[in-house]
Amino acid sequence: MEQAFTELKERLGKLTDLRRAEGVLVWDMTVFMPPGGGPTRAAQLATLHEITHEYEIDESFGELFEKLEPYAASLPPDSEDACLIRVAQRDWSKARRVPTELATEFALAQAQSYDAWVRARENSDFASFRPWLERMLDLRLRYVECFAPYDDPYDVLLDDFEPGMKTDEIRAVFAVLEPELVSLVEAHATDEKDDFMSGPFPIASQEALSRELIGRFGATWDQFRLDTTVHPFEVTFGLGDIRLTTRYREDDLISLFTAMHECGHGLYEWGVNPSFERTPLCSGCSAALHESQSRLWENVVGRSLPFWRWFHPRLQETFPEKLGGVPLESLHRAVNRTRRSFIRVDADETSYGLHVILRFDLEQRLISGELAVEDLPDAWNARFEELLGIPVPNDQLGVLQDAHWSGGSFGYFPTYLLGTVLSVQIWEKARAAIPDVDEQIERGDFHQLHMWLRENIYALGRKFTPAETIERVVGGPIDPEPYLRYLRDKLETSALV
Ligand code: ZN
Repeated sequence: MEQAFTELKERLGKLTDLRRAEGVLVWDMTVFMPPGGGPTRAAQLATLHEITHEYEIDESFGELFEKLEPYAASLPPDSEDACLIRVAQRDWSKARRVPTELATEFALAQAQSYDAWVRARENSDFASFRPWLERMLDLRLRYVECFAPYDDPYDVLLDDFEPGMKTDEIRAVFAVLEPELVSLVEAHATDEKDDFMSGPFPIASQEALSRELIGRFGATWDQFRLDTTVHPFEVTFGLGDIRLTTRYREDDLISLFTAMHECGHGLYEWGVNPSFERTPLCSGCSAALHESQSRLWENVVGRSLPFWRWFHPRLQETFPEKLGGVPLESLHRAVNRTRRSFIRVDADETSYGLHVILRFDLEQRLISGELAVEDLPDAWNARFEELLGIPVPNDQLGVLQDAHWSGGSFGYFPTYLLGTVLSVQIWEKARAAIPDVDEQIERGDFHQLHMWLRENIYALGRKFTPAETIERVVGGPIDPEPYLRYLRDKLETSALV
């Protein structure tokens, strides 16, 4: 028995190594690779993915799971070994539904399609991207068929990011949010300019401040890296090797929020129980839980008044000419303004949800076949105007803005809003556990908050299902009410007046 378990752990360690090696290639592709590397990198990724998939679905795993059945049954269900066996077996059974040829074809198409998307977005040229999107959609539909019979094809795609969650659950949460968010945007959206917020802010200073924030939140530079890319993300190559990426623009300070956001993802991965290293338990639990952490650090902390009481003088010192004379209240208001804008990643906390609801609606229609790819830009523009009240001027600011669909990541978008909703539920629990958390943040001290999150969420990794993890942390399912309360409170009380 012991020997079978040791063998399982060895094999899972190698599988984790293969996956992370794929991650290194993707990270390099988006951070450092010269454009000329595109075609060979796509081939390398496809080859490595083929090897990984073959390894992952090997029958020998099944034999080990069979041998380990009595051992697993003898363990307390929430023990580390029992959870590891359960999660590994679930991953294995799922991966076996997908033929290697399809998985490999998908990996190759992903890399090629990303290339096509980058160029199409630059030129605001949907027509050149359309065949790639059609191909990605077709590949995803073939993937969905591997899991037949299913209740809803979208459930299959969602399960890759939010294991166990059903599309209907999201529809129910978003049905509450949509009218509330639309009316909050209507009531509070402004065109008022905060001229002091448009630079120039030298990029070297933005980078220094980003690093300072990431360090303050608790990361250490012997185990983290920060680099620049087009579409920022976080990726983990090991518990001591967390890669954050960001981007800078001279004319605004959005990079500071990007840094806090990606740092939240990094702290989550970094905080996983060290005994899970090189196992499938060694990562965040789901996309929504991950996003709850990035959004908690970026927004709930990073746009709060206590945070700005601490950060305001630091920002003034860094940019004395631009911000030296700007009072705290003006800066805090500026970073919390509700605006009708086109780009999701730059959107404020209130309108952000509407950007996600738009994508969730369109994805479901694409997957069900109700909407054809060629009609996607028109459908996007019509629904965008309905939700946000402004017409989309071109596809660069519309349907081409996100990388996700180029990678076939249908089913990912809703987790952004679920995570945002969860971030406030989790914050309420943290605040109850640390009554003086606001005073600590005002002093620039984030240690206790970081440790609470680490202990209560990060350490668990993938040990429990997302629903079980959420239940453990907040004592119930995803609930939109705390988030709506938080927004109303922020927009309608004195803090922003
Ligand atoms: Zn994120």
